[in-house]
Amino acid sequence: MLTDTPGIHHITGIVRDAAENVRFYRDVLGLRLVKQTVNFTDRFTRHLFYGDETGSPGTALTFFPYPAEEDGRVGKPQITTAALVIPPDSVDYWRDRLADHDLDVTETGRFEETVLQFADPDGTELELVTGESDVAPWADGPVPTEHAIRGIHGVTLLSTSIFATASLLETMGFELIAQDGDRVRYRAPGDRATVVDLLDRAAEFGREGAGSIHHVAVRVPDEDQLYEWHDLLRERGYDVSRVKDRHFFHSLYVREPGGILFELATEGPGLAAEADPATLGESLFLPPWLEEDREMIEDQLPPLDPGSGPGAD
Ligand code: ZN
Repeated sequence: MLTDTPGIHHITGIVRDAAENVRFYRDVLGLRLVKQTVNFTDRFTRHLFYGDETGSPGTALTFFPYPAEEDGRVGKPQITTAALVIPPDSVDYWRDRLADHDLDVTETGRFEETVLQFADPDGTELELVTGESDVAPWADGPVPTEHAIRGIHGVTLLSTSIFATASLLETMGFELIAQDGDRVRYRAPGDRATVVDLLDRAAEFGREGAGSIHHVAVRVPDEDQLYEWHDLLRERGYDVSRVKDRHFFHSLYVREPGGILFELATEGPGLAAEADPATLGESLFLPPWLEEDREMIEDQLPPLDPGSGPGAD
């Protein structure tokens, strides 16, 4: 039987420079680079995964660096913002840390949360939001564990049809829980990465490019349920992809009528499966079907320096 999604699995964005992406998410935000691989359908493009110790569902941010990509522009229909959880007592630490790295930070509040707003080097809109989470952060990162990011808080969406987007969220198990001005909050029933905010406001159309968030994935416990979701969403008239093997998980994609691209992804086998936890993310991972082309792929990929590690701070 189908169960509600407990929350977000991962968030994926588009950026330009892979090395700069690593410097920012690993060395400034203190997330672990848990996997460096390639886009399985475009093998000369990198795919970088960050998260907690193992990149567990609800902590994973992933990026496709396209060196020639033009700047994106936030607008409808898009995922405008990715938000990450910090402990309530860590606001001062993070305000100072971000300022030390020359980031423009705006502090605001909503729903009794403190929110630090800033952008990554490609212009991706990010937030650090105070809150609770069951995530244990990466213990060997450059940020002291007491202040470290506790996975994903949620995403903010600008839909072309808030009712259509809300309808898919409700189908997947999110519930409307609050409204603050033009921000309508939906929450999934899990212990982490549960928030989706819909902005009910006028906005220009956006453009996908560097600094855009491409899609948000929600968690599905296993492959059987993923096929059930596939059939249910198709019956309800959604534009659903077939189930795809992403090696670390199986997934399907839904472009809902409000224009937002959602993915449904299984929790297993996970980013740390078949890997040594101590050296996770340190070398280029290729799935078996690309392994024979490793030399050619490594030659063509833009440079990355994953070796410098934490302490670069
Ligand atoms: Zn994805």
